[in-house]
Amino acid sequence: LLAVAGLHKSFGANQVLKGIDFTVHAGEVVALIGPSGSGKTTALRCLNGLEIPDAGTVAFAGGPEVSFSAGFKPKKAQILRQRSAMVFQGHHLFPHLSVLQNVTVGPLEVQKRPRAEVMEQATALLARVGLADKAQAYPNSLSGGQQQRVGIVRALMLKPDLLLFDEPTSALDPELVGEVLVVIKELAQEGWSMVLVTHELAFARDVADTVVFMDGGVVVETGPASQVLAAPQNPRTQAFVQRLL
Ligand code: ATP
Repeated sequence: LLAVAGLHKSFGANQVLKGIDFTVHAGEVVALIGPSGSGKTTALRCLNGLEIPDAGTVAFAGGPEVSFSAGFKPKKAQILRQRSAMVFQGHHLFPHLSVLQNVTVGPLEVQKRPRAEVMEQATALLARVGLADKAQAYPNSLSGGQQQRVGIVRALMLKPDLLLFDEPTSALDPELVGEVLVVIKELAQEGWSMVLVTHELAFARDVADTVVFMDGGVVVETGPASQVLAAPQNPRTQAFVQRLL
């Protein structure tokens, strides 16, 4: 579904990504793990053009390969944004729009889809994540977990090929983490393809097919979740996993 090769990204003198490669197959859940500052979030944001890499390629199945180099025009990353949807760390909802408006504004205004179809989809998805009665509510009246579930619905509304999750539970109070992880796990079981950056290694073990361990801007180890988390080969992965799992 997605092939990423040779991604490089620097912020000034800080070389954050030093050649990242990985692939995502259709229906696969890939967890990006690694120490703080290893470049996980930056790598994720490069997949949909929220961050423009200095070099490397990102290619979705059936779409043209996007090849980054000096002077790349950010507009050319639009085709990546049409294939994936991001769920952010905080929910990033519009405070002045209701829940229903928040999740329908993209499909109506950007995708220009028919209103009746969009409303039907939104009603069904909100019900699915247990928020049928919150359609008219405003974000600040919801709990963090509810807001994050709205964020997930907003991503699903775009009918992306790939869901991107950037530490979707790290801004939540501990008692609200579970309700969001349950929704993500259900989506994984339904066959959604996803890449998730997470600090929750137990969750990664539970939900991910493949784990990509990053450290210092490179991919140190990639493999089936059961292997990378239970019997890592690389000493750096071993040290990281032992400390956290
Ligand atoms: P964490 O687990 O703490 O979120 P991470 O592995 O996701 O870390 P990134 O968030 O990708 O790491 O950050 C990697 C490095 O890039 C950090 O040193 C960070 O300060 C830097 N960085 C990220 N975004 C920017 C930016 N927009 N401008 C400047 N530096 C940035």
